Amino acid sequence: MKIKCPKCSKNAELAMDFSFVKCDNCDLDMSYGEYVKFVAHNEKTYSDILGDYTGSTEGQSSGSLDEWD
Ligand SMILES: [Zn+2]
Repeated sequence: MKIKCPKCSKNAELAMDFSFVKCDNCDLDMSYGEYVKFVAHNEKTYSDILGDYTGSTEGQSSGSLDEWD
């Protein structure tokens, strides 16, 4: 299913079995566990992202992603 990429804020793909998250836009590739930790750490709207995959969470967290690489 589509989710918001925590790195570039475009569409990323969450595996149906929640085994991984991948983004073609920025080459994000991590386990879902890593993704949850990453998002929880970087997004105050963590619950919004998990509750709404339709892309209505645009416009947050453009800061603080640099330190991730
Ligand atoms: Zn991305």
